[in-house]
Amino acid sequence: METVNEKNAEIARRKKRVESLKRGIIIAVVCSILIPIVMCICLLFKVNSMQKQIDTLYLMKLEKKQMEMVASQSEELEQSQAELLVDELPQTSEASEEEQNQKKRVYLTFDDGPSSNTEAILDVLEEYNVKASFFVVGKEDDASMEMYRRIVEDGHTLGMHSFSHQYSTIYQSVESFSQDLENLQSLLKSATGKEITLYRFPGGSSNKVSNIGMEEFIRYLKEKDIVYYDWNVSSGDATSQELEPEEVVQNVLSDVKLYKNSVVLMHDGANKENTVRALPEMIEKLREMDVEFLPITDETNPIQHLKAEDVN
Ligand code: ZN
Repeated sequence: METVNEKNAEIARRKKRVESLKRGIIIAVVCSILIPIVMCICLLFKVNSMQKQIDTLYLMKLEKKQMEMVASQSEELEQSQAELLVDELPQTSEASEEEQNQKKRVYLTFDDGPSSNTEAILDVLEEYNVKASFFVVGKEDDASMEMYRRIVEDGHTLGMHSFSHQYSTIYQSVESFSQDLENLQSLLKSATGKEITLYRFPGGSSNKVSNIGMEEFIRYLKEKDIVYYDWNVSSGDATSQELEPEEVVQNVLSDVKLYKNSVVLMHDGANKENTVRALPEMIEKLREMDVEFLPITDETNPIQHLKAEDVN
């Protein structure tokens, strides 16, 4: 009897052991399947969030790059638009005899100053007794304030070219445009005592940078009795690839031949040493063409890419 009982007990123990072994194996199998799956899901989430971070960073970089591109394109636009105008401007075929005999008029204009180059340009102009026009940006340091004064005292025309020269802010809205303009106007008034009413749009009146139509800004200028001046002759001194002084001279000479009245776009910002170097020869060669150099005044018929009279 006892042996039978012992045997039964032994069988029961074995059964139990087998059962627990089975359970162990099942748990091990389930774990070996579940753990990798869970880990995979975790990794997937992690990769996903990292991808999003990369995307954001890439977008930020792209935006910055686009902003920089817009700025540099606009500068080149100042150049290219003048070339477009060569085809657009009618020649004076119906000009009267008096007009025919009149000398060619050349208005030299300098944008983006004052800078370290402005003084040198003023010296050259003084030496050749030529009056020009300066469309300046806003700088409050003593040297710049002195340059604003000298431009006026030397008999040149002082015009505005926006305080900040930041296309993205100036052309954001009429409000930011007017704020920028008023800041520059009051700075120039405190430097020279004069109320300046001449303007040159950064990028010209037909620039394609502004999201708002340029008509809005033109309307605002008309309300304030401020006249804007574009150009029909480009020196090419604002292209991304720096031109040799001889090339700057040639660009100007070949275009001045085309017009009775030439408004020449040049720049006196920093790094425009080649414009300074080009200026004496440019003036001498233009004198050989018997042109008359004039500063822009209220009486000057403005060259406008987008005409004020077409904007109501
Ligand atoms: Zn400019």
